[in-house]
Amino acid sequence: MKVTYQVRFAPSPSGWLHVGGARTALINYLAARKYGGKFYLRIEDTDLQRSTDESIGQIIEALDWLGLERDGEIVYQSKRIERHRQVAGELLKTGHAYRCFCTPQELEQKREAARQNKENRSYDGSCRYLSSGQIEQNLKAGLPFSVRLKNDAGRIGFTDLIRGSVEVEADLMDDFIILRADGTPVYQLSVVVDDHDMGINLVLRGEDHLTNSTKQILIYQAMGWAVPQFGHLSLILGTDKKRLSKRHGAASVQEFQARGILPSALNNYLGLLGWSPYDEQEIYTLDEMVEAFDLDRLHRSSAVFDEKKLLWINGKHIANITWPQLKPLLRTRLQQRGLEMNGLESGLQTFMELFRVRVSTLEDWLQQSDLFFDDPEIYTESGVSKYFQNEGTATLFGEYLKNLDLVFGPLVWQDQEIEKQIREFAAAKGLAAGKLIHPLRLALVGKTESPGIFELMSVLGKEKVVRRIKKALPYMQH
Ligand code: GLU
Repeated sequence: MKVTYQVRFAPSPSGWLHVGGARTALINYLAARKYGGKFYLRIEDTDLQRSTDESIGQIIEALDWLGLERDGEIVYQSKRIERHRQVAGELLKTGHAYRCFCTPQELEQKREAARQNKENRSYDGSCRYLSSGQIEQNLKAGLPFSVRLKNDAGRIGFTDLIRGSVEVEADLMDDFIILRADGTPVYQLSVVVDDHDMGINLVLRGEDHLTNSTKQILIYQAMGWAVPQFGHLSLILGTDKKRLSKRHGAASVQEFQARGILPSALNNYLGLLGWSPYDEQEIYTLDEMVEAFDLDRLHRSSAVFDEKKLLWINGKHIANITWPQLKPLLRTRLQQRGLEMNGLESGLQTFMELFRVRVSTLEDWLQQSDLFFDDPEIYTESGVSKYFQNEGTATLFGEYLKNLDLVFGPLVWQDQEIEKQIREFAAAKGLAAGKLIHPLRLALVGKTESPGIFELMSVLGKEKVVRRIKKALPYMQH
């Protein structure tokens, strides 16, 4: 029988969407799409102090930008608190949980005693053994209580989809609280109830949740609910082998977006950080990834975030951007600069094409358009000393300009003709063409590198070329 996986991504909305979270979302998405299940989004916003609407908006936006389409309505955990309480009530009724009337001071004393006696459990379970009369009396007196789950498991074992067999000494865990004295459910309870009610049968999340899973299994068992399959994804680390964070540079989806990383490239990179395809293919669209994805090939060991690789992958995805995709982005950039595309579209398109293979981010690429409109303001220093400061350069370019006018009066301004003119002019002077080409490039773009100079000159047009050479003349040596 074909297995279908009902999965969810369950972020706590207390900031931007971290790339680790995005990777978890992506792997869940792939599992749902590959195996024909559902991919749900649940916002775990019960921590009212830390959750913000702003963060919820950012997370949803980031997932939309990545194109990780979800199924069904978004589930907000905060709206389900009554249901969580109800389950705590059931566990009390069935005797799988008990009321704990210990005060914070008593609990601290117990913790201290456990520390001194080197005991594993910091709570001694004393309220487990209260008589029903005592409980009755406490309730009548209005004493506040939390609800604790009875932990008699001894050992908890499960087969993790990624890590294989996991065994935990449940003995080491307290009878943990599932409902606080103020009536709010604890994360462990909310997650189990929601996952159960949403029909989740595969929980894929970061390995930092491994101990949570063992606690949650106890709740499933106490409720007599089917335990979902668990898979704990390895963490994404920075180059210093610490968990990737802002310290390492960009760590949130939005930061990468702002830097001109394409959503398809970020998915591609994050996907490969969690899973290995069978072959050597490295560039994937999201649909291709769904096709190639295999739950059996998720990585066990943690992955170091390699920015260079991401940029390389991004460059490969830039190769697939079409002009209709680039045009609106370019138009926005131009508008921000008070410029219009009107009448310039075909020139701009040719100009942008020249840079496509030379850039690794969308931002870099869009920036190049400035060169189409603006003459260089500065010339790189090393370029100036190498190419402008040779004796006779200014004179040479003065003559070159005259020759340009002569040659291109009647002729088409076109790359092969431009090349021919430069080569002939250089030959007539007994010079290598490079003697002209290098300073010319610096004059045109302010840098010592550029796409093919003849194509560049062709698309810039004669007027701009002449203007830029004239602008550079004062920096050249006579
Ligand atoms: N809300 C938890 C978090 O953001 C994840 C819970 C889960 O996936 O079970 O870390």
